[in-house]
Amino acid sequence: MKWSLNLGRIAGIKILVHWTFLILIGWIVFSEMQRGSDMTTTLLSVAFVMTIFLCVVLHELGHALTARRYGVSTKMITLLPIGGVASLERIPENPKQELMIAIAGPAVNVVIAFVLWLILPSLNEIPGEEFFTRITPANFLYLLFFVNLMLVIFNAIPAFPMDGGRVLRALLAFKLGRVRATQIAANLGQLLAIFFVFIGFFYNPFLILIGIFVFFGAWSENMIVQHLDFLRGHLVREGMMTNFVTLAPTETVRDALGKLLKGSEHDFVVEQDGQVVGTLTRMQLIQAVKEEKIESPVSDIMTQEVKAFNVQDKLAEAYTELQKTKAPLYPVLENGRLAGVINTDNINEFILIKSALAH
Ligand SMILES: [Zn+2]
Repeated sequence: MKWSLNLGRIAGIKILVHWTFLILIGWIVFSEMQRGSDMTTTLLSVAFVMTIFLCVVLHELGHALTARRYGVSTKMITLLPIGGVASLERIPENPKQELMIAIAGPAVNVVIAFVLWLILPSLNEIPGEEFFTRITPANFLYLLFFVNLMLVIFNAIPAFPMDGGRVLRALLAFKLGRVRATQIAANLGQLLAIFFVFIGFFYNPFLILIGIFVFFGAWSENMIVQHLDFLRGHLVREGMMTNFVTLAPTETVRDALGKLLKGSEHDFVVEQDGQVVGTLTRMQLIQAVKEEKIESPVSDIMTQEVKAFNVQDKLAEAYTELQKTKAPLYPVLENGRLAGVINTDNINEFILIKSALAH
């Protein structure tokens, strides 16, 4: 994740800021300068955005710490210009748990808004437009109150996978089951995403980005849930490839390049007497060529510590792992010996066949 700056940890969770966040800060400074604002006003605007994102971090921590109560850990929280993302290791399949986790984020903003409402003296008159468009020390906390309210309202929109959409999916799942519930929530999410993009063209370019994010988020989460449903009850043995080319650790990079060109494999298992000793990807091969290691044995450049699956393992587990790690392939063992290879493409083929048979 070299695209992100590590800010440290809160409650053991890494807090990262994506580099595009700088564009947001730059944009704020630029627009303040265009309005002819002085240094103090510009700095105040930047401080305001930082404070909003502090609220966003607290919102994401609400999700993450609730998830922790259900035994789900969170690797990191990433701040993007369009908001925060808590990377939960998984979304609980229990709808009640998903519901609680989804609500916990906006609930934090409700608490922040409530505290601000308590401590701020009430305004004597209804503020004019100027009040909302120019940040001053006098209206700073008032605007923060409104922003937190906006965050609650925006997250209530049932645009899966945004919080409101997750609430909807969880509620539907109580009645319809998770697979059907996800399908409905994702379809609605995509519809709303198109609407966001449309509105965004007229009012706010950030809404376009959020729309795109929601559209593809809904698409991919729905696809994964539907796929996992097809894989239920199947074993790795059924979805693995048994026709595949392996490499010996003593073969050279040149030999491996030959096999890469002649066959359809991009990535290889390195095997010695039926024992898996490593894996070698196309990327690693190309890198070795660049480093002029063409005569080196593959054992020099392969990945040695490789996770392997067993023929008896659940196919859904292998699929989830491949999605999570983005690993190009995993060796499959039977009685400790190499029996096959599993990758995302092959599992997708398995799903394709199964879904064709189901019709
Ligand atoms: Zn949230």
